[in-house]
Formats: sequence, structure tokens, C-alpha cells
Amino acid sequence: MQVAVFSTRSYDRDFLTRANAAGRHRLVFIDARLDAATVAAAAGSRAVCVFVNDRLDAAVLRELHALGVRLVALRCAGFNNVDLRCAAELGMAVGRVPEYSPHAVAEHTVALILTLDRKTHRAHARVREGNFALEGLLGFDLQGRTVGVVGTGRIGQCFTRIMAGFGCELLAFDPHPDEGCRAAGVRYVELDELLARSDIVSLHCPLTPQTRHLIDAQALARMKPGAMLVNTSRGAVIDTPAVIDALKSGRLGHLGLDVYEEEADLFFQDLSGEVLRDDVFARLLTFPNVLITGHQAFFTEEAMAAIANTTLANIDAFEHDGQPAHPVSIERLA
Ligand code: NAD
Repeated sequence: MQVAVFSTRSYDRDFLTRANAAGRHRLVFIDARLDAATVAAAAGSRAVCVFVNDRLDAAVLRELHALGVRLVALRCAGFNNVDLRCAAELGMAVGRVPEYSPHAVAEHTVALILTLDRKTHRAHARVREGNFALEGLLGFDLQGRTVGVVGTGRIGQCFTRIMAGFGCELLAFDPHPDEGCRAAGVRYVELDELLARSDIVSLHCPLTPQTRHLIDAQALARMKPGAMLVNTSRGAVIDTPAVIDALKSGRLGHLGLDVYEEEADLFFQDLSGEVLRDDVFARLLTFPNVLITGHQAFFTEEAMAAIANTTLANIDAFEHDGQPAHPVSIERLA
């Protein structure tokens, strides 16, 4: 089967080619992001393989359908960038990679927390300049701190286990509490209580209409003064201008981001040397207590291999049975 692979980077090509070693499918690698301007590149393919910032709105899906595309194979877990209702109406199947390495994302979250806390990025830069002063590098012990986890699915569960190992007290908010977490001592509370009591709030919920701007000005006002907020879920779970206000006022003590609401125009490309046109993002970069990575939490060898293998399994299953191995159905919108 011919598959148009959009938003291809060198590592996607490597891992997908390895997973397709038997040559079962003809993978056509396209650097560009899938959107209304690039959709024509899918001509001749029965499937498109896409990532987090490809835009599969109704117009793009209709165009894909007209070109003969019948499968959308997401090489990620989230599916907020696909109009599932429209795909169902058109009879197009949508598959995803529900689990690749929750450890990769949970461990990156911890990397952000430890770096913000102990300021190792700043210390490294100082030591390289021969500056061994400690002023400005004061951190805090994680042991005994309260960590609030919003969303205890696969990644949230992994994250709670790691933070329990540091000796943290764990609070969680999730409309579907996990019994394993409860048994391990995680206490489920309402979101307001979690925000009010946590020294660190970490977001691991999907982006849905309910979670869009879940962390807005009101939520930030409820947080403990000086607390740390970490988002490795999806950018729009946070209202970024409200977070900037909270940083300016000093109410928010630290911010760690791996995702950003308007990341589609920035992330996964080398823009060094170009003028940064996003004023909100530029403002975020000015804070010494903000640490941003460009949606790399998933980016480990194990996760990339699992993503490639599951994506190929979705394409195989669709070819044989007309359904991907891990379908995303319209019910998941509910
Ligand atoms: P999951 O589906 O296993 O878990 C999500 C959890 O969030 C579920 O337990 C669900 O009940 C809960 N949830 C739903 N609505 C909620 C709400 N309003 N408030 C609180 N909790 C809510 O998903 P996962 O594999 O753990 O991934 C979580 C999210 O992480 C994904 O949706 C994706 O957006 C993001 N993600 C980011 C990266 C990255 O590289 N930064 C990689 C993978 C996933």
C-alpha cells in the first residue's frame, strides 16, 4: 500500500524504514506539514501517516478522501488535530499509537522539574565560563513536597511512580481515577484542592474541549504562591497569556513546557537565525524561571521504535481487515 508520510524528519525516515524492512508498503516521505496547502502531495496514496502538528480539519479530510486516501495513521497518541466526526462521515479510518513509551514522557517531565528546581542548565553555563558562584542557584528538596498530577492515564501513572520514589506526597485529579494509583497512595481530590495544595502541578490529560485552557487565570490564582507548573501534555491545556501574567506577578514560581499552544509554526524545525515572530513565545523566553523544550518528551529510541512498529501494524491491519489495529473512534470525543 502507498502511504504519504507527512512532517517527515530524518529520525522518522530512519525508524519507519526499519519497521518497513520487509518492504510491505511504499512509504513516500514528505517534509511538509499536512494542511490545505500541501494535501495534494497525498495523491496516489491510500493512507497518510501524520504527526501532532499536521492539520486534518474537515476541508483537508475531504480533499484527502477525494484523492483516494482511506486511512489516517497517526504516529502519536493524541488525536485532537483530526476532525473525527468528518472522518467518520467520509468513512475514513483513523488509527493512532495509544502507547509507545509512557516512561519517555514521564521521565522528560522529571527532567524539566529537576532542571527548574536545581537550575543545572544555568549552573552548566556558569561553570563553562569559570563562574563558580552559587547565588541564584538555590533549589528545594523534592522529598516531602506535594505534587499534583492532572490526568493519571499511562503517562500520569508512570510519573506518579517516579515522584513517589523521591518521597513526594501525591495528589491527583482525573474523572476516571486509577485504582493502581490509589493503592500506591495517590490521593484523588478535586482540581481546586490539587491546585491549592501542590508545590508542583504536572499536566498529563489529553486536549479536549473540557481541558482547553484548564489552567487559566482563575486556576493560576488558586495555585500555591511560588509553585511550579509543568506541561508535557498539549499546549492549549494552558492559557499562555494568563501564565505570563502569573510569572510577571511572581505568583507562579517556575514553568516547564514541552508543548506550546502555537507550536505548529515553531517546533520540529531549525529556525536558528530567523526572526521570532511569536511575541507570546518570545516573552516566555525572557523569564529565568521558565524552561522550554520543543515537544521532545516522546523522543527516545524505545518510543520511536514502538511508534514506527505500531504505525506499520495499523497500516497492515487496515490493508487486511479494513480497520487499523488501534482505531480512534468518534466515541472518543465524548
Ligand atoms: P491516557 O489516555 O492514557 O491518559 C489520559 C488521562 O487523562 C486519562 O486517565 C483520562 O481520564 C484523563 N483525563 C481526561 N480528561 C481529563 C480532565 N478533564 N482532567 C483530568 N484528567 C483528565 O493518555 P497518556 O498516554 O497518559 O497521554 C496523556 C497526554 O500526554 C496525551 O493526550 C498527549 O496529549 C500527551 N502526550 C505528550 C507527549 C509529548 O511528547 N510531550 C507524548 C505523548 C503524549
